Parts: sequence; structure tokens; C-alpha cells
Amino acid sequence: MKVATYRHEGRRYVGLVDEAAGTVSPLDLPAEEAERGVAALIGRDTPTAGGPVALADVQLEAPVPRPARNIFCVGKNYFEHAHEFSKSGFDSSAAKGAVPSEPIIFSKVPDCVIAHDEQVLIDPDVSGAIDYEAELAVIIGTGGRGITRNAAMEHVWGYTIVNDVTARDLQGRYSQWIVGKSQDTFCPMGPWAVTRDEIDVSDTAIRCSVNGELRQDSNTGLLIFDIPTIIATISQGVTLKPGDVIATGTPAGVGIGFDPPKYLVPGDVVEIEIDGVGRLRNTFGRWSA
Ligand code: MG
Repeated sequence: MKVATYRHEGRRYVGLVDEAAGTVSPLDLPAEEAERGVAALIGRDTPTAGGPVALADVQLEAPVPRPARNIFCVGKNYFEHAHEFSKSGFDSSAAKGAVPSEPIIFSKVPDCVIAHDEQVLIDPDVSGAIDYEAELAVIIGTGGRGITRNAAMEHVWGYTIVNDVTARDLQGRYSQWIVGKSQDTFCPMGPWAVTRDEIDVSDTAIRCSVNGELRQDSNTGLLIFDIPTIIATISQGVTLKPGDVIATGTPAGVGIGFDPPKYLVPGDVVEIEIDGVGRLRNTFGRWSA
């Protein structure tokens, strides 16, 4: 299933997407439950509760519009990206080598999540080094603590796309990455979510283009630490909860991988496509107080 969170006629809905037909059909959820986005579907069977509506007539929101807590993220989780980032001069973890021996886990605050087609806002007073990162994100279904690698995939509800937008100068200045990663509007998510049966994450293409120029072109099968390892790592003593979102890392081809770096500026359009999931598109604008 492809499942979208969206606004229509003044309220939030969660619905089933039919991409071929270009429609979304609302699911039978009370309005207060629909506020949680697709996280409201975890652990329950929810029939549709109305006829299809044209996707063009609704406003897509992030699948989990405001996660209940920080988005877990994995750094340097594709080999070629680990090398390009370590060479960039912004990698405060580089002293331990380009390729990490254990997963690097950081987070983004929930408030920076925005939807497909919403603007990412660049504040030139804060950062002059804005970068994109195309990532497959996991949505946890069944929570747990001490989840084993073998059991991990049973805890996955589904997947979505995240653009882990980053202020590289802030990421480099502070050895903890949360400020550079959590700037307001810096977590585009969407355009919708898919249930875990929809894709084979051991072999799924992931691409990112900026203004139509292909920059990242890889496959989620190339993750250094795979999804079971990531879930096992985080859940060691941290209880994962239904609706938690984990961004799994970005492949090579980010802006700091180029010489000179290709930073984003207002007016740029970043599109991330993951086969079987969808295409997340966001325009970058300028922050105004
Ligand atoms: Mg990232």
C-alpha cells in the first residue's frame, strides 16, 4: 500500500494512494487520530471511508507530519559518501577514519519536518553551506527494546523518503550534528509512505537531482550498516516506539562531494526518487523573519 497524509476541505486525512489513477481514498480514522498521520494506522486494520479524491485537489503533508520524538539518522552509511564527506573538511567524526566501524547515530528535531512541495528555507545569516541528502527512511511499526537483527524487519511498518538537509558549516563547527541537521524546514519527508511489502530494500534504486541535474544515483543495497543492524543498534537500551522514523543515510553525490562544492541557493529544486516509493520534490527559498 501507498499511504498519504493530506489536507482536504480543512482537515487532515490519511488515505490510500492510487498513483496510476492519480487519486487518494480516505481511510476510516477519526480526525484526532488522523492528526498522527500514517502512524495512526500502525497495529490496526483501517477500511476506506469514502470515494477517491484527485491527488491534485489535496495538499500532501509529511506521512508523519510531526513525529512524536526526534528522527533517528545514520551518518556516513554508504562507502563512497563516507569518503567524499571525510575529504570535505566538515566531518567532525573523521578522526576515527572515513568509514565508521560502528553506525554513527544522530537526530533531527521533529519540528523541522515539512511536506513534499513545501519550501525549505535558507537563512543566509546562519549558514552559507546548505546541502541535500537523499535517504530511505524506515517507519517503525512494532516498538521494542533489544531487538535482534533477525527480528528487526518485523518491527518495520514501512518506508518513506527523507531529504536530510544539512548546514555543512554548522555540522563541521559543532562535533554534535544536531544544530546543522535540525534547522527549521530541514527535513522534507514524503511524498507518502509505503508499507514494507512494497519494496525490497536490499535492491532499490535511489536518485537525487538538483534543478534536473542527476547528482546521486545509487541503491539501498549498498548501505554499510543495513536496516536490521541499524534497528538492533538503536534499540540497545533505547526502546523504539511505533511511528519512530529512522533515516538510513545518503549515498555519494552530495554538494560537498564536488570541487568546488555545489551548495543550494534559493530557487533550487531538489527531487529525490526511490523506486517503488515515489518522488519527493522541494524548492528552496529564503528565510524571512
Ligand atoms: Mg544524512
